[in-house]
Amino acid sequence: MIRRFAGSAKCILFLGLLFPVLTYAKQEIVIYSARIESLIKPLFDDYSKKTGITIKFITAEAGPLLQRLQAEGSNTPADLLITVDAGNLWQAKQQGLLQPIDSKVLQENVPAHLRDPENYWFGLSVRARTVAYSTQRVKPSDLSTYQALAGPQWKGKLCLRTSKKVYNQSLVAMLIAEIGEAEAEKVVRGWVANLAAPVFSSDVQVLEAIAAGQCDIGLVNSYYFGRLLREKPALPVALFWPNQATSGVHVNVSGAGMTRYAKHPAAAKSLLEWLSSGEAQAIFASSNLEYPVNPRVPADASVAAWGTFKQNTHNLSQAGQLQAVAIRLMDRAGYH
Ligand code: FE
Repeated sequence: MIRRFAGSAKCILFLGLLFPVLTYAKQEIVIYSARIESLIKPLFDDYSKKTGITIKFITAEAGPLLQRLQAEGSNTPADLLITVDAGNLWQAKQQGLLQPIDSKVLQENVPAHLRDPENYWFGLSVRARTVAYSTQRVKPSDLSTYQALAGPQWKGKLCLRTSKKVYNQSLVAMLIAEIGEAEAEKVVRGWVANLAAPVFSSDVQVLEAIAAGQCDIGLVNSYYFGRLLREKPALPVALFWPNQATSGVHVNVSGAGMTRYAKHPAAAKSLLEWLSSGEAQAIFASSNLEYPVNPRVPADASVAAWGTFKQNTHNLSQAGQLQAVAIRLMDRAGYH
């Protein structure tokens, strides 16, 4: 009797020891994502099926996610932060919320200008912030560079989104990196002088204003054009690739980094590596009509139809480093 009791006690003890091991072995990854779940969930469901790893999401805007990571500190359940715009990724790094990932796979799959030089974040998809123009009132031969949109021939013809949006802060920051602050300020002042209407709160509004004849040209992220074109195939607007003889089109990324206090760093690193691979890239990029970050993966046919272009290859970390300078410059120039 005593022996039997001792036996079951041992058994319970054994199960008790085993259980945490089993719990540990059942891996999960927790993602804080500023990308909406519908865009990324199908892809991550695929990964879960293949690996048995459960992926949990918390979805919110970039700002609140960074605040949450900050508040949670080492108690955060988050392993990965996914967000859009290098300006946001740079902020996360700067606030000490990320840790570097040493990965040959990521370094091979993600071009150097689209990742943090110290490996704190990696681009996963590329968007171009480029010129949109009315196909009824503008000839592509009228267009050349971002700088030329500041010229007097565009007076009363330009539409812009608000400078409060990080996309424009990054665009101007990258312009400062390329041509210097004084030249960039002249350009931004020229844009402001050419505005056809007060700044809009979204890129889609800029595209619709061009279509409606309120202005002739604007600056937008390529995927907004793609989305609107899907809804309205006869949209009288097209994209132009500026600065092809010089610095290239301004690109930005959606991207990810491992949180500083990730509880599942090995699994999180494997997931990021997979996201940069051929298999995942095509899906990740095309779900939002973006370009794959991995240059070996072709773009979705509907995106490829807009033509190929030379990208600006200044490192995107500059979008973060010069963000504050860009915001002050736009303020001085009257770009609100
Ligand atoms: Fe966007």
